[in-house]
Amino acid sequence: MATNNIYQYSILSALLDGICQTGTALKDALAQGDHGLGTVPGLNGEVVIVDGKAYHFPPGEQLRRVEVSDALPFVMITRFQPTFQKALSSLSLTSLPEALNPLLPSQQNCFLSIRLDGVFSQLTFRVIAGQCRPREPLSELAKRQEIVSLENIEGTLVGFWSPAFSGGFSVAGFHLHFLSKDETRGGHVTGFTGDVSLQAAVIDKYTVELPHNEEFNQDVIQGAREAELHAAEGG
Ligand SMILES: [Zn+2]
Repeated sequence: MATNNIYQYSILSALLDGICQTGTALKDALAQGDHGLGTVPGLNGEVVIVDGKAYHFPPGEQLRRVEVSDALPFVMITRFQPTFQKALSSLSLTSLPEALNPLLPSQQNCFLSIRLDGVFSQLTFRVIAGQCRPREPLSELAKRQEIVSLENIEGTLVGFWSPAFSGGFSVAGFHLHFLSKDETRGGHVTGFTGDVSLQAAVIDKYTVELPHNEEFNQDVIQGAREAELHAAEGG
């Protein structure tokens, strides 16, 4: 796939409803890009894709490299070609919109891909707990999620800015996953401060593939529910 497009498999609303038993194979996702994020069947942890390598962080365990044949029930991936670069000291999640000026706000209704490399004086991420039963909703899993806070950790954050209207498909706003430089820690980022190199690109094309299976079509999937989204994805 061309650079700076997003390929996405399934939608966030499906994950909120606990639809995550099967998915697209990692090798098919990697044919579409080299940087991204996702999850595994049963929502058992977090997946981050950096430089074409996919890492899975299950709750309470060391990471596992995702095998090319493994299924990803949700993935967003892009062939990352940054068009915007900046070195920043003391960048935080709250100052990230300002740091992305002029892309934000001039491209605020578009998707952006983002990569941050550096040393994080403070970093908090969560690792979602796996489902105890099929269709257990993400909001229930979020109650059992593991929260990890680290200090002075070197690593990479990869993810996306998704426009407000896209909630239901994607996490509106920032959605970033972490991979430590030593490749031992990672998860879904809820806050950070760091001295980093920030790279970003505006996405040209956003492609969503919907699952063709019984689980996906069993019940009506509703659109984004703000309160639930914030509870589950840490807004
Ligand atoms: Zn995430």
